[in-house]
Amino acid sequence: MNIILLAPPAAGKGTQSELLIKKYQLNQISTGDLLRKIASNDSKLGNTIKKTLASGELVNNNLVFQVLEEYMDKNTSENGYVFDGFPRDTLQAEKLDDILENMNQKIDYVFYLNVSKEILLKRITGRRLCKSCGKVYNINIDLLKPKMNSICDNCGQELYRREDDNESSFETRYQNYKIQTQPLIDYYQNKNILYEIDSSLEKEEVFKQIESFIEKR
Ligand code: ADP
Repeated sequence: MNIILLAPPAAGKGTQSELLIKKYQLNQISTGDLLRKIASNDSKLGNTIKKTLASGELVNNNLVFQVLEEYMDKNTSENGYVFDGFPRDTLQAEKLDDILENMNQKIDYVFYLNVSKEILLKRITGRRLCKSCGKVYNINIDLLKPKMNSICDNCGQELYRREDDNESSFETRYQNYKIQTQPLIDYYQNKNILYEIDSSLEKEEVFKQIESFIEKR
């Protein structure tokens, strides 16, 4: 089973990916995570990507395709993948169709996580991540706050804010989403594999909607 999570920035793709991979033993592919890993290297490429990520602009397609294909070659999956943050435009969607076709596979579900811009902004400005284990918190949402300010409940390490989680980068990311990614809603609706999810609710409630579509088919 192959799943795409299609959503604006901070709509909960990472959180729902985690729940999906656990329940259905899938392999998560987050192009954002893969690019952040390269950006953390002190190399020419790392520094270029770091700048692009902080600005909120998209990384160029050739590089994204290379990173994606390398990852899929090394991380084959028996049960399928959850694509988180890919595809982000029509060219990327066509590329993914080709990659999967070559593997005799296809996309089974595209879950469109719909949330208002106001809620996204609240999530973005409050999002904090653990430096060590990657656990995600939100200081603007009671249920997601860490017990101690700036410290991870899991491992006691310091929390940090992503460089692109500020209002100005968010505006760029949101506008890019509207222009480049939103047309994919029609692309997948035409293939009859688009399922709309209300992602303004808390994470378990969002996951229940996703599960119910999977269990129904
Ligand atoms: P979000 O969806 O919340 O913006 P991501 O972690 O998915 O967070 O992406 C962070 C950044 O990584 C994006 O703003 C973009 O610069 C880059 N990125 C991630 N995936 C892609 C992609 N498929 N194509 C181009 N750039 C990407």
